Amino acid sequence: MRTAIISDIHGNLEALQTVLADIDSKSVDRIVCLGDILGYGPNPAECVDLVAERCEWSLLGNHDYGALYEPTNFNAAAEQAAYWTRAQFDAEQDKEVAARRWEFLGGLRVRTQMDDFLCVHGTPRRPINEYLFPDDAINSPVKMKQIFDRIPQHSMSGHTHVPGIFTTEPDFYPPEDFEYSFNYKDEEHIIINPGSVGQPRDLDPRSSYAILDSEATTVDFFRLEYDIDSVSSKIHAIPELSNWLGDRLHEGR
Ligand code: ZN
Repeated sequence: MRTAIISDIHGNLEALQTVLADIDSKSVDRIVCLGDILGYGPNPAECVDLVAERCEWSLLGNHDYGALYEPTNFNAAAEQAAYWTRAQFDAEQDKEVAARRWEFLGGLRVRTQMDDFLCVHGTPRRPINEYLFPDDAINSPVKMKQIFDRIPQHSMSGHTHVPGIFTTEPDFYPPEDFEYSFNYKDEEHIIINPGSVGQPRDLDPRSSYAILDSEATTVDFFRLEYDIDSVSSKIHAIPELSNWLGDRLHEGR
């Protein structure tokens, strides 16, 4: 079974379309989404429609929660973006389309088990909001142990927008370290982070996603250029979205 894993789209339609086209060019059995379809970006409704159509399931991220229910612990720009995002769904005139979107958003899962993988947006102990940062592998051994203790076998999560693999040493490997293909056959537990489709934060502005091959026991990581200028100028044209949200797409942070 080959599963494409996408996460943290953040209303960035150009990035999502680029990633889906790339997935379509590879042989993949299913696509799953680890959450944060919404927030920051200018095309939340279009991204929800595409995820609903193309993904087998999607998780609830903190920005999805923020737009749907209430933004908690957001900075001012993110909070304003959350309210603007919600208004886009409220503004839909076609009642059927609006109902279909709300139903999809209301059905987003907090966690799900997919074969050997426990899937969450954040961490297994705080699935919506807790970050598992690459530095935690070195600086927070207790946190790492508590998180690995909650994982029956393997796990996958998004939220940090930084792609790579955590192992039980504990350690974190960015995709460059294993030349973008990791074989987990001999690993007791791993946690995969596919990186972010629409708002990468590892100083590489290209979209990120991963393909898990359960027979080959490999995780392959991909980076793709997309039309950042187009997204950034759309953000600049929306007064409720801070210019900074567009500018940082160019910087990958
Ligand atoms: Zn996110």
